[in-house]
Amino acid sequence: MAPVSKEVDFLVIGGGSGGLASARAASSKYGVKALVVEAKRLGGTCVNVGCVPKKVTYNAASIAETVHHAKAYGFSLKETAPFDWTTFKHKRDAYVKRLNDIYERNLANDKVEYVHGWARLLSKNEVEVTTDDGEKSVVRAKKILVAVGGNPNKGPDIPGAELGIDSDGFFEIETLPRKVAIVGAGYIAVEFAGMFNALGVETHLFIRYDHFLRAFDPMVQEVVTKEYERLGVKLHKKSGQSKVEKDEKTGKLTLHYHDATTESGVLTGLDHLIWAIGRTPATKGIGLEEVGVKLGEKGHIVVDEFQNTSVENIYSLGDATGPVDLTPVAIAAGRRLAARLFGPSEFSTLRLDYTNIPSVVFAHPEVGSIGLSEPEAVAKYGRENLKIYKTSFPAMYFAMMEPGDKGPTSYKLICAGPEEKVVGLHIVGLGSAEMLQGFGVAIKMGATKADFDNCVAIHPTSAEELVTLK
Ligand SMILES: Cc1cc2nc3c(=O)[nH]c(=O)nc-3n(C[C@H](O)[C@H](O)[C@H](O)COP(=O)(O)OP(=O)(O)OC[C@H]3O[C@@H](n4cnc5c(N)ncnc54)[C@H](O)[C@@H]3O)c2cc1C
Repeated sequence: MAPVSKEVDFLVIGGGSGGLASARAASSKYGVKALVVEAKRLGGTCVNVGCVPKKVTYNAASIAETVHHAKAYGFSLKETAPFDWTTFKHKRDAYVKRLNDIYERNLANDKVEYVHGWARLLSKNEVEVTTDDGEKSVVRAKKILVAVGGNPNKGPDIPGAELGIDSDGFFEIETLPRKVAIVGAGYIAVEFAGMFNALGVETHLFIRYDHFLRAFDPMVQEVVTKEYERLGVKLHKKSGQSKVEKDEKTGKLTLHYHDATTESGVLTGLDHLIWAIGRTPATKGIGLEEVGVKLGEKGHIVVDEFQNTSVENIYSLGDATGPVDLTPVAIAAGRRLAARLFGPSEFSTLRLDYTNIPSVVFAHPEVGSIGLSEPEAVAKYGRENLKIYKTSFPAMYFAMMEPGDKGPTSYKLICAGPEEKVVGLHIVGLGSAEMLQGFGVAIKMGATKADFDNCVAIHPTSAEELVTLK
């Protein structure tokens, strides 16, 4: 075993959303000697290959849509060249690099030590760190947080699957593709497909059933799936893939598939095939099982409600544990854990409440969702104890547009019991992502339908429909 190089109070494996938040809180608020070990880039998935570069790309796609809509408002914009993906991509990379540097400075400001290297658990108090030059050392820690996140799943077991890329690869695309295929029905697949399509790329989206976003309320699934078809995304429903080939001369890919309309389809001339078929926690090969940390069926670290693993002194949170793979969830759990472990005694029972966490999809249009879907609410409360309010309308933004150019807005409020407590809110339409945060506060506070109705509407907005539902 390598020599023990240092001793710390709190060793954090993984410098992503959860790990950084926890280490910084431990050090800056409670004066704890904290050390973060990160193998790749500071900021983790969110900053480097997730939320941040995704949202910047979504902004570009939204501008493309606005340029299209501007004509209906009387502007005579003329695009003289296709979207300059290459310049945009390099600016986006530079922004992410700036964030990496800011994250490193923040660690220094908060007096958190940072080691770039690969960490592996040796015991409940010891971690082996291998730095980039191959040097190994052992750090002894009073407490260890495993916040290693996850990685995108590789393609299915079919010939040529390796010719496709994953969501990490999406952020490496250097030039504007002409034609792409995306396989997957989760939010990442749907966001990528919407962005490509808005930027003028011929976009094929392969889904296994009739709708995508199947973890969301049926209204969301139906409205957004239909809207993607209207916007020109080529949806392949009830589909599967059997083979991928590459033309060595042109570099283009051919995808062999079946879907609801064909038993043996062939899609040629693809610039990229993107597998967006889920993520796996990065929990293998880092000594977890060897030291007795229990893993779930899909490789998630099993934790209790306080982020305790099955081994004393070892904690985990974020995507490594699930069940809600979102950056603010990892951050909130990380900060609460630091307070509980190192803060004053009044924080000794602090934990993250995983109910009523708002989430959005940067689809076209945006989706916002909090609380129970209708099927979940029926299962929990019984249909007879629910009152469901719904509305669909074209937002005023589309008033200047031809009927075929109007996007949908659909809202659903699910209320339970005689007091009509709001137990689910699902919104699809322009501005839904920004809109949800405020409604999230109300729902987290236990708002009822009457509370919604008591709030005077803001006019003219789409959001006002949520406080005037009949
Ligand atoms: C394409 C995409 C879009 C997304 N969009 C959003 C969004 O819009 N909003 C949102 O809230 N969430 C979004 N997410 C999810 C979000 O990125 C994650 O939920 C979040 O990053 C999880 O934080 P974490 O700290 O658990 O893990 P991560 O951020 O993944 O950090 C884990 C870190 O641990 C490091 N690591 C792993 N093993 C080791 C080891 N043995 N030694 C040292 N370091 C190690 C990794 O290199 C990584 O940097 C998106 C994800 C993807 C993939």
